[in-house]
Amino acid sequence: MAAASFDNMDGKIWMDGEFVEWTDAQVHVLTHAMHYGSSVFEGQRAYNGKIFKLEEHTDRLFASADILGMKITQTKQEVNDACNKLLEINNLVDAYCRPVVWRGSEMMGVAAQKNTIHAAVAVWEWPSYFSPEARLKGLRLEISKWRRPAPDTIPTNAKAAGLYMICTLSKHAAEANGYDDSLMFDYRGQIAEATGANIFFVKDGELHTPTPDCFLDGITRRTVIDLAKKRGINVIERAIMPEEMADFEQAFLTGTAAEVTPLAEIGDYNFEVGNITKELMLDYDALVRGETR
Ligand code: PMP
Repeated sequence: MAAASFDNMDGKIWMDGEFVEWTDAQVHVLTHAMHYGSSVFEGQRAYNGKIFKLEEHTDRLFASADILGMKITQTKQEVNDACNKLLEINNLVDAYCRPVVWRGSEMMGVAAQKNTIHAAVAVWEWPSYFSPEARLKGLRLEISKWRRPAPDTIPTNAKAAGLYMICTLSKHAAEANGYDDSLMFDYRGQIAEATGANIFFVKDGELHTPTPDCFLDGITRRTVIDLAKKRGINVIERAIMPEEMADFEQAFLTGTAAEVTPLAEIGDYNFEVGNITKELMLDYDALVRGETR
């Protein structure tokens, strides 16, 4: 039997406006996106059959494509409808949803002005990004040797495939050393983010989080800032230097896949899974399911 693989599952994928069989959603090896990284994507989660903040994700998808000079041929409404319809067709209520947009094959040099722009959406079941045990105890993060680049090096506000190369390198190194994930500093040496999630710290009842001026301003990050403010917790967005971690009491990650995940260690620094983190985890879990606490 063939090994389980994402290119060999049952169900339908939406591709360029059509719902096609999962195994038929193929691209050619001579696709600009694969050679030069000209691809942008989103990561969304559906809870109880409803995709959380779908419109914001679609807005970001179109913004990312625009930053890379790619004009999506469908409308935002068509992409939203495709995401919703896919859940129904594939019979999923709690799911991960992955829209992706890429340049095709018409030109195969660096220049690709004539290339057609393609779009696809796939949905699948993806329960928890980190293991439930690791989430309860708090994750252990290594500090990456790779740094988030400056905004004048690469468009850091696009959710573009090319930006994920250093994430994969960092995550592989961390896992090889027995860690769950990796924390990247930025080009200035300030704390930036993990490989697929933003970071928050707690000190004296307040939240501190890096200003997203060279990495993704996550939709979960913004949601958690709102939840904290609703609880009367002061949120300070600022430049945070690594040595400040010695004074932080709690730390957690936020992301669509990661949700709110507590941290126990980052390199030599230790954190407790404390009350503010736990409250925000529960607040987030309730909000995404349309419940109130
Ligand atoms: N940073 C990176 C590098 C990510 O991949 C993600 C996940 N999309 C995030 C932050 C968090 O973004 P969001 O909360 O919008 O999922």
